[in-house]
Amino acid sequence: MKAVLLHEHGAIENLKYEDFPTPEPKSNEVLVKIQGVALNHLDLFVRKGLPGLKLEMPHILGSDISGTINELGSAVSELHLTEGQNVVIDPGIYCGTCEFCCQGQHSLCNTYGILGEHKRGGYAEYIAIPAPLVIPIPKSSPISPLHAAAVPLTFMTAYHMLMDRAKIKLGEDVLITGISGGVALAALQIAKTVGARTFVTSSSDEKLKQAKDLGADFLINYNTTPDYHKEVFKMTHKRGVDIVIDSAGQDTWKKSIRSLRKGGRLVTCGATTGPIAETNINLLFWKQFDLLGSTMGTRGDLNAVLELVWKGRLKPVIDRVLPLREAQDAHRLLEKGDHFGKIILQP
Ligand SMILES: [Zn+2]
Repeated sequence: MKAVLLHEHGAIENLKYEDFPTPEPKSNEVLVKIQGVALNHLDLFVRKGLPGLKLEMPHILGSDISGTINELGSAVSELHLTEGQNVVIDPGIYCGTCEFCCQGQHSLCNTYGILGEHKRGGYAEYIAIPAPLVIPIPKSSPISPLHAAAVPLTFMTAYHMLMDRAKIKLGEDVLITGISGGVALAALQIAKTVGARTFVTSSSDEKLKQAKDLGADFLINYNTTPDYHKEVFKMTHKRGVDIVIDSAGQDTWKKSIRSLRKGGRLVTCGATTGPIAETNINLLFWKQFDLLGSTMGTRGDLNAVLELVWKGRLKPVIDRVLPLREAQDAHRLLEKGDHFGKIILQP
């Protein structure tokens, strides 16, 4: 098969479109012919190399995969999965037996990993994957199997942040920083389904306009209004928002905390601008903020959010689809940050 191989960590040019043996499914696995693989910022980090991450080379990136079942392993029941069925793949890899898995907290699993980060992923024509991670796309799905690749990781992550960690309530005020990435756009849509009033930030008026079309209520351009927390306070009549969804980290941390109402919750799922930030502890205890970490989600989260996608209540925003052999260009686009929504590679 053709695949984009990473023989060593480093620059974009290290992504090589080459031949690689088609994987053979083990008895409990399913061979999926990949229709689409969506990019995440994680792909950039893994390409460059992460501290402590030791991979079998060549590595194959790609966490968000959709495809068609090509072959079932000998022990896979045909009752649930059949050849020719369109599917998406759960990008979380968990043991199912540790203390946290038994509580349904799969992303806290003692051996938790992510497809494309800890194991070979989807920048390829085929992938062999344990059957429990393969989820059928219903025939009634309003989105194509190709576009379904843009759903699992980002929507599961956003759902976990809002529903499990922040425990969002009807009609709350939610600030989402950097409204162009997949998680932010998923969070915007999920927040709207529970009647939230949404506040979004971006460096681009064009992106803010696109966010408005998706239901964003208040728009803040942080280039022209760098102290966006002051704007949030004006917009909320000095109250602040109930919830902040932030994945930028270092650059936004203080302002995001200052955007919260008393007793508000900040949820972070990433630190794309850097991991070390200052927290004013006086503010933290006096205003009784909750600072919440969140990673990926549970299988229950993924199933719940997929149901909403299959019903047409949530829809991935697609920036563009490129052929798999143009993976280098796709990484350039993602690094540059001019995109709005997901970039998908099609084998
Ligand atoms: Zn586990």
